[in-house]
Amino acid sequence: MGEIRKDPVVPRWVIIAEPREKRPTDYRSDGTVVSVTPKSCVLCPGNESNTPAEVYAIRPDGSPPNEPGWQVRVVPNKYPAVYRGGSLDRKGLGLLDSMRAYGVHEVIIETPDHDLQWDSMSAHHLKLVFQTFQARLRALRQDPILRYIVIFRNYKHEAGASLSHPHSQLIALPVVPLTPKEELKACRHYYLERERCLFCDLIYQEREVGKRIVYEGEKTLVLSSFAPRFPYELQILPSEHSHDFAEADESVIEDLAVTFNLILKGLKKLLNDPPYNLVLFTAPNPVPRPGRPDYWGTLPYDYHWHWLLLPRTTRIAGFELGSGFYIHHVDPERAAEELSSLIRAEVASAMR
Ligand SMILES: [Zn+2]
Ligand SMILES: [Zn+2]
Repeated sequence: MGEIRKDPVVPRWVIIAEPREKRPTDYRSDGTVVSVTPKSCVLCPGNESNTPAEVYAIRPDGSPPNEPGWQVRVVPNKYPAVYRGGSLDRKGLGLLDSMRAYGVHEVIIETPDHDLQWDSMSAHHLKLVFQTFQARLRALRQDPILRYIVIFRNYKHEAGASLSHPHSQLIALPVVPLTPKEELKACRHYYLERERCLFCDLIYQEREVGKRIVYEGEKTLVLSSFAPRFPYELQILPSEHSHDFAEADESVIEDLAVTFNLILKGLKKLLNDPPYNLVLFTAPNPVPRPGRPDYWGTLPYDYHWHWLLLPRTTRIAGFELGSGFYIHHVDPERAAEELSSLIRAEVASAMR
């Protein structure tokens, strides 16, 4: 059993996990894919017995669990970073906080088709993937020890993927990690001063300026980040205020699927199918912690869920790690212009 530890100086948590080096991989060390066939891929249909038993699946044909017939399938990670069971066993020795690595680590197998990535998946199917994320958020929040659930997608070896079959992952944690917590606290602080949502204000302002809007769907908006860490970094948000992705309406999820499909097609053309990380930022577990019933009391008004898309065409190194500053050479306004013109062309050709 691993351990979660907090840095004694800054409020950053780390997981000291059980050894995971036995993990299988589809990639060579230079990032190229070894030949993977539906027969040899552990996530392809027909190989269900090679994964831990599924915890959720969409099976329109009513097929039994752990058999082919699924459209989206969720299984526990075979090599988890965290485990559920027992108590947290919080310990403190002076400045040194630690607890057991309590949590849930799951793999969302997004499609039975080994080669169908998000840019080529139908919007209808991508909607099922988003609805699966919503279902897992709702189910895992039943455990009040789990305070925050990180949903993320690593595309290609350079972005940290070990398997090439389309999949995303979630890690549910007993603490709110530093990165979302900084955002949540900033949004709460802003709301307490102005009684407005910071992200709603940002959307209003970006519309006024008009230089960093990459795409505007019926219910969603894509912004080129004003101060990005990576070139072509994008934020994908609902246009209407909404604090919790788990509770987003079907119409929003439908539009989100269309939006993702378009921007990933655009990025693929523009940057030659780049590796990327995609992360969801959403509300923490709304079930109050014992003794802190109002901790996230203003959350429905002050927070605004969004996805962050980080193309990984540049590496981070000493300066970034040592300073938190990021240097790159693409200005965000140019990124928005390049990507939005590709998307406009894509939309026009789809309408023809
Ligand atoms: Zn596969
Ligand atoms: Zn808002």
